[in-house]
Amino acid sequence: MGYYQLDRFVQEIKQKNPYEPEFYQAVSEFSASVIPFINAHSKYQDVSILERLTEPDRIISFRVTWRDDNKVIQTNRGWRVQFSNAIGPYKGGLRFHPTVNQSVLKFLGFEQIFKNSLTGLPMGGAKGGSNFNPRGKSDDEIMAFCYYFMLELHRHIGEDVDIPAGDIGVGSREIDLLFGAYKKLANKWTGTLTGKGLEFGGSLLRKEATGYGCVYFCHNMLNVMDESLEGKICVVSGSGNVAIYAAEQLLVKGAKVVTMSDSSGFIYDKEGINQEKLEYIKQLKEVDRKRIREYCCKYDKAEYIEGAKPWSVPCDAAFPCATQNEIDLEAAKTLASNGVKVVCEGANMPCSNEAIEFFKKQGIIFAPGKASNAGGVSVSGIEQSQNALHMSWEKNRINQELERIMLSIHEKCREYGESNGDIDYVKGANIAGFVRVADTMIKYGVM
Ligand code: GLU
Repeated sequence: MGYYQLDRFVQEIKQKNPYEPEFYQAVSEFSASVIPFINAHSKYQDVSILERLTEPDRIISFRVTWRDDNKVIQTNRGWRVQFSNAIGPYKGGLRFHPTVNQSVLKFLGFEQIFKNSLTGLPMGGAKGGSNFNPRGKSDDEIMAFCYYFMLELHRHIGEDVDIPAGDIGVGSREIDLLFGAYKKLANKWTGTLTGKGLEFGGSLLRKEATGYGCVYFCHNMLNVMDESLEGKICVVSGSGNVAIYAAEQLLVKGAKVVTMSDSSGFIYDKEGINQEKLEYIKQLKEVDRKRIREYCCKYDKAEYIEGAKPWSVPCDAAFPCATQNEIDLEAAKTLASNGVKVVCEGANMPCSNEAIEFFKKQGIIFAPGKASNAGGVSVSGIEQSQNALHMSWEKNRINQELERIMLSIHEKCREYGESNGDIDYVKGANIAGFVRVADTMIKYGVM
């Protein structure tokens, strides 16, 4: 009675949620850590805790119709997966990308529950978005889409209900447009979205937070072994918000960043991407919205490798900061054979479960995204606090708080993941994230 069996449980999840591979992947990874813990602690038994946790509170699914620059009417699907509000209002990003579907948003919303729990802040888990592709769209088209997306979403969100933010394809431009539309439609001016512009309630350091936090987490992991990032060769994938600010903080810590990428290929700069070059990448990606290959026109000693990911580049540390499943078993083996010693996830679920198992077996230190990329949502939580108080705090204060939260997440991973002197960060993050949410749900009774 009361015990779970991993294989049987994952099989049940597959039957209940047909055609949702990303969602099974996230649930399998989580359950492999949490099931042995539940089976050893009677308070989590006989309360159907995993069945409840793996079923979203609700999924809002809606049609978004908008008109493009050629006056052609376009139709997309929008979703908001409100997964769990056990420990706080629903919180999580919005993703606009052609690969978005219900499975992807359920995996992201599920991970968000435990990530948000680890931050210690009062935030539940959610995720939303659309299969709309922002690439190549004009400013007018982006504005139209954001407006019509919010036309549906606004009735389901609110500062004490559900607080969306950005994710892939939803940066500061989109958040500002979404907030403008929300303000009109809901006829109130509240901190219902985070990642807002600094002129109207946004927080300093929000844009940097995910990348900086990821590097702080890596620093904490290395610190346990009396090691540091100083002089380490780092391979970074992606060239969005997370990648750019992970690279920036790596430079502060004295590391050498040699790659960045986008979905078309990667740049390899053996001499290292310094701050000046990174400023150029910020301009290229954030302002001009061009492809990463342009980097090699300006810095001609760098190479551009079309159609590949940067995992074949020799390095000490890898920071996958692009998207889910960008490191499979084969890529993990390539990284290992090129000397990688630490892998720290900046993106959500960038490593497959087989890749994670392989890293663990090889003794490569591995940080799961739900711990190492929690800095972004943490500063979102800090933005909510500032909005609620009608205040804006200075950068130093926010940075100190971010460093404190990343350290406390590290300590929670250590508390639940340490055995024989080694820390299993996957196990630690999953169990620590689970305990806070499960304890709360048990207190609420049957609901
Ligand atoms: N999309 C980010 C994440 O994956 C941030 C979410 C938020 O700030 O609400 O954690």
